[in-house]
Amino acid sequence: MVLELQFLGAARHVTGSKHLLRVGDDSILLDCGLVQGPRRMADAANRKLPIAGRDVAAVVLSHAHIDHCGALPRLVKDGFAGPIWCTDATADMLGMMLRDSAHIQSQDARHLRRRGHDYEPLYDQEDVERTLRLVRGVPYHQPTEVTKQLRVEFLDAGHILGAAIVVLDAHVDHKQRRIVFTGDHGRKHLPILRDPEPIPPCDVLITESTYGDRVHEQRVDMMAALARIVDEELQDGGRVIVPAFSVGRTQSVVMFLGQLMREGRLPQLPIHVDSPMSREATKIMSRHPDLFDDETRALIASGHSPFFFDGVHYVADVEESKALNQERSGVIVAASGMCEAGRVLHHLAQSIGRKQDCVLMVGYQAEGTLGRKLLDGQKQVNIYGEPYDVHCKVRSMPGLSAHADWQELLGASRHLADKCRQAFVVHGEDEAAEAYASRLRNAGFREVVVPSKGDRHEIR
Ligand SMILES: [Zn+2]
Repeated sequence: MVLELQFLGAARHVTGSKHLLRVGDDSILLDCGLVQGPRRMADAANRKLPIAGRDVAAVVLSHAHIDHCGALPRLVKDGFAGPIWCTDATADMLGMMLRDSAHIQSQDARHLRRRGHDYEPLYDQEDVERTLRLVRGVPYHQPTEVTKQLRVEFLDAGHILGAAIVVLDAHVDHKQRRIVFTGDHGRKHLPILRDPEPIPPCDVLITESTYGDRVHEQRVDMMAALARIVDEELQDGGRVIVPAFSVGRTQSVVMFLGQLMREGRLPQLPIHVDSPMSREATKIMSRHPDLFDDETRALIASGHSPFFFDGVHYVADVEESKALNQERSGVIVAASGMCEAGRVLHHLAQSIGRKQDCVLMVGYQAEGTLGRKLLDGQKQVNIYGEPYDVHCKVRSMPGLSAHADWQELLGASRHLADKCRQAFVVHGEDEAAEAYASRLRNAGFREVVVPSKGDRHEIR
């Protein structure tokens, strides 16, 4: 009987996470994410999924980031009707994420049609609602049967609320194998979240490698760095634009700024959180205080909210968002995190030509995205198809990342080397993935593979 893995996305790339596990007669998809990047390339990849929906028995999701779950409605449109297993908190967040994704696509379609391009969204709100009816949320640590031959258990990955290290126990003929998928692996001491749980011993490891060739700054330094950057930029008479996805970094930045203001390390300043989803995401997070770390629970117990306090303002509608164009100082946190879509674009269009303004990158910027171009120091970029000269400052704080760096990742995985028969390095661009693969080999892992898209490997 078959027991094999096929890598269908986020293989030598960071977006479009999709790995197919064949157990006996069943195909189980681990993650079903959207490919993000330059429109034409991403759209082609997202439109034609590498597997037909009707051929998938079940989906197991690591977390609710769109590059891990955003292609689900397309899979459903394409005939998938099985269960989608994930943690309760991920299930809670999926509706918001997928509805927003459908909304962005319908807006894009309208925008492009007006310019004479023919564009059909990948899916619509109806596909999203059909998808949501298939979602089955389970608590962390509750072993759950996916098929007769496969059980899943979710452990806290410490990456975003609900994110999981996925533990899969497959039983085919007389062969029993434990496959662990790290999903996006978080870090110790991230604000709000609990630390990642230990990865249990396994036969097969599928590990992310986003920062497989980099080391982050420490959190203490991060608080000081954020205070310094924001202070310098305010002195300079400009405003700070922070591109951030609505779930995760947005709440971390808000919480850090709140703490810095409470401690008197920053003056009271206006913080505008401008993405329609951020307020909702923040409310959903507030509903799961049991998943917060001790520090955040203590803050709440002392009567403070980490997300809602004097000075922070969640922007409601588009008019209010446009009115922010008049704001010359303060901090604007807006999605999307890689500057590919969303309201951050019109804030960038305002700020990018102003010397005194600053764009502060706090998350990973994938190849080909506007965020990456800014980070790489391009002097001219396109926004909404128009060229803009870049005069603003572009600064970055990769240490705020919710992804482990290679030292942290290896620290969390080294103990697996003895038992692990096969390790697959995914979710990293070529250099990062290869660098991390050789570190795993040096740490004693016997067989380490960086798969390319489409590669199949038998689980031995
Ligand atoms: Zn993620």
